[in-house]
Amino acid sequence: MTIRAALLEGSGLLGKAGPDTPFLDAALLLAHVLDFSRTRLLAAMPEELPAEKFEKFMALVKRRVSGEAVAYIIREKEFFGHSFYVDYRVLVPRPETELLVEHAIEVLENAGKSGTEAAICHDAFCGSGCVGLSIARKCPGIKMGLSDKSLDALEVCKINAKKLFGQDHHIGISFGNILAAAPGGLALVTANPPYVEASFVDEMEKAGSLEPRLALDGGAAGLDLYPSIAKEAFKKLNHNGSLLLEIGDKQSGFVKAILEEAGFIKLKLVKDMAGIDRLVMGTKP
Ligand code: GLN
Repeated sequence: MTIRAALLEGSGLLGKAGPDTPFLDAALLLAHVLDFSRTRLLAAMPEELPAEKFEKFMALVKRRVSGEAVAYIIREKEFFGHSFYVDYRVLVPRPETELLVEHAIEVLENAGKSGTEAAICHDAFCGSGCVGLSIARKCPGIKMGLSDKSLDALEVCKINAKKLFGQDHHIGISFGNILAAAPGGLALVTANPPYVEASFVDEMEKAGSLEPRLALDGGAAGLDLYPSIAKEAFKKLNHNGSLLLEIGDKQSGFVKAILEEAGFIKLKLVKDMAGIDRLVMGTKP
């Protein structure tokens, strides 16, 4: 059987089972089995696939059919141009979260701080580290800290810090709820906190989601964490420092009000590619 035929068989099964990107999923799984890049896989379409590789591939396709995320199966997710290690200890990075990274970089660049030690930045609820580490890669001079209250997630974050910055990196990765681990005098705070309604997390779990509940469940309305984040960030940010938060669908009005109540000004909402408000930004006066 050729690689092309195997891909068609795998994506056919996936297409019937429900994932919305069956061909891409099949390609990622087969590339993983063969230890190929996606480009190399596509170039190798006419080549013969050894039977034992086909069997391995179909076993992974079956896991995907039963609802497991591709990223968990292959232990990898591309985010902001980097390959992050992921497993069940962390949320799978979402493409829309790249918005948070883009805007954080823009804020630092506009303030002329992307290359200065003076910019102390903190990413709370860091999970895999995809947000904070991607910002730090783009703004090498800043002093970046990341924190999470999940020790499991911190282990994954440390793997990614080594992956992106090498063994002797200077990224601070610490245990702490909300901003407890962050110093004062911050130029920037970013967070993608758990913001999904608890009842919806129940549904996700019923549908086979294996993502950590701690990273998703934001209480009854999904808004439980925002008031504390806003208050703590206001205390720890410098004058003119920025807070950037990812939010869930239909939460922008509430979160904007929470930030205003905490004292933030120049509030700005940013929509994602689906046209949904995904980011709330505020400045400490
Ligand atoms: N965007 C994620 C989802 O919809 C939720 C991420 C979060 O709670 N921070 O599943």
